Amino acid sequence: MYRIRFHGRGGQGVKTASRILGTAFFLSGFEVQDAPRYGAERRGAPIFAYVRADRRPIHERGVIRDPGLVLVADETLVAISAASVLEGVGARTAFLVHSGEETQTWRDRLDLAGPVVTLPVAGPHGEGLEARYVGAACAAAAACLAGVVSLGAVEEAVREELEGLADEVIARNREHARWAYGLMEPLRGCVEPDPAHPAGPIPPPGWVELPFEDARVSAPATHAGVTSTLVKTGLWRTVRPVIEHARCRGCWWVCGSLCPDGVIGVDEAGRPWIDYDHCKGCMVCLSQCPNRAIDAIPERDARGAESAGGEK
Ligand code: SF4
Ligand code: SF4
Repeated sequence: MYRIRFHGRGGQGVKTASRILGTAFFLSGFEVQDAPRYGAERRGAPIFAYVRADRRPIHERGVIRDPGLVLVADETLVAISAASVLEGVGARTAFLVHSGEETQTWRDRLDLAGPVVTLPVAGPHGEGLEARYVGAACAAAAACLAGVVSLGAVEEAVREELEGLADEVIARNREHARWAYGLMEPLRGCVEPDPAHPAGPIPPPGWVELPFEDARVSAPATHAGVTSTLVKTGLWRTVRPVIEHARCRGCWWVCGSLCPDGVIGVDEAGRPWIDYDHCKGCMVCLSQCPNRAIDAIPERDARGAESAGGEK
């Protein structure tokens, strides 16, 4: 059985990658499971998706704990333990990371026993791989590394899964799929199928039964109003809302009222400001501002401007 896990952030095509790969396996005669798993609900939050494929019926259920291949669409997730990118990575697990760094750097950094490979962020034309094509590229890379799914099946799967989008968009996704598949040719087939786990009774968990307690007693921190300030959820953000004060009319701070995380405050001069440590980049504020006073800036550009001494 092939067990493949994709990690990324909401909006990065991780779900699309698992759908394309699952369909490509199916077109190649495999039984397939493919499913995304969301944690937090916002764009930019870590998510993962997984694919199981086997020639025989699949009886396993649930998330994959012992992957044969892990693909990471966003390299920053590797360092975030809560994203569980390295969970279950074993001696035979192949690891692919979408990164601008050299493959050898990742091999040295991770020190994994299995193969480590990178999907360059430069993309097929050296201009940067757009986020909307990362899913197709990762799916194609996984197909080649598994070695049992042809490029033709991947291209057909892209067409099926993206049906309804413009022909040009589908063509560009197929182009990126061909590029990624070709890049992985030297390691074609490096992912070996592992035996299916035998079906059988689930062993009882090794927990200790505790008497029931009201959650406000047993887990007060979960109910404390300050919980979110302890977790810098701003790390999830891929796009940063920036208030353009010249256009802001101080309209009773619609943005602050509607921000689902309550991270927009108002300073003494009556100007709204955003707590970027905790803003998750959902862009509710941008869509609700009646004066179009909030711009969306790619997080990477905003951080670049900060480090160059610019404004937030
Ligand atoms: S909703 Fe827009 S105009 Fe109103 S306070 Fe917020 S940024 Fe300013
Ligand atoms: S400030 Fe805007 S983008 Fe950030 S969490 Fe609030 S509504 Fe979402």
